[in-house]
Amino acid sequence: MAFRLASIDDRAVLIQNDGIYDLEKHSNGRFTSDPMHAIAGFRELHEVAGELGSQPDAPLDGARLGICVPRPQKIFGIGLNYRAHAEESGMDIPSTPLVFTKFPSCLTGPADDVVIYGPSTDWEAELVVVMGTRARDIAAQDAWDHIAGLTCGQDVSERVLQFATRPPHFDLGKSYDTYGPIGPAVVSPDQLSDPSDLAITCDVNEERKQDARTSDLIFSIPELVAYISAVCTLEPGDLIFTGTPSGVGVKAGTFLEPGDTVTTTIEGIGTMVNRCIAKEG
Ligand code: ZN
Repeated sequence: MAFRLASIDDRAVLIQNDGIYDLEKHSNGRFTSDPMHAIAGFRELHEVAGELGSQPDAPLDGARLGICVPRPQKIFGIGLNYRAHAEESGMDIPSTPLVFTKFPSCLTGPADDVVIYGPSTDWEAELVVVMGTRARDIAAQDAWDHIAGLTCGQDVSERVLQFATRPPHFDLGKSYDTYGPIGPAVVSPDQLSDPSDLAITCDVNEERKQDARTSDLIFSIPELVAYISAVCTLEPGDLIFTGTPSGVGVKAGTFLEPGDTVTTTIEGIGTMVNRCIAKEG
């Protein structure tokens, strides 16, 4: 059975029947409370999701969800992976995936605040792949067997810092603390009618900024998994931010400011609402 894995107060929970189920309690000892343990056991998680019963522990409405993948070993980002975004960035369409890293310390939850650290902080709505196995040299045709699920992400980017050097250091510009909201949940691919073709949108305040479909990716999810795993052994919980569609702020010279609200939605996965706040001091 398909699952939606989230976390509340650092404990793994499954979402079903508009409610939340504590995973440790409902798995009869097969899982601990650690969401990373749940991801590494994603095949068994399907079984637990099928045995939950009709009575959740608490309603989903009003629950404050935390980071669904709290401690990935690695986070990859892909640059310029939508044609229209490559064009708006004035870049060539890449013939090889442009891979960078976000450091795991940038992660934050689907309803948490993003601290604005610079004058040119930009939004980037993205589909995020959550790996489920320890593996390398994964063939593209086998890639989905190694994926625990998908979630929403914001690859929040400070453009001045990103392009402060030549060549640019994407990794630092995209790794300020709180510049990696993910969530609301890790959704197993079988929950989605077509996990390769999902509507993705980003609103800043009430204004629609990004509106695309993930079928427009230049390099597909299987191609990215194959490309990266030919270099690195992937671990359960490793994340791949698959790239952002057109409509980022840098094109028009508009950026995020304290008080703004960023809403990120992917069809079948859910919505994140992150408020921007000023840095203290
Ligand atoms: Zn990005």
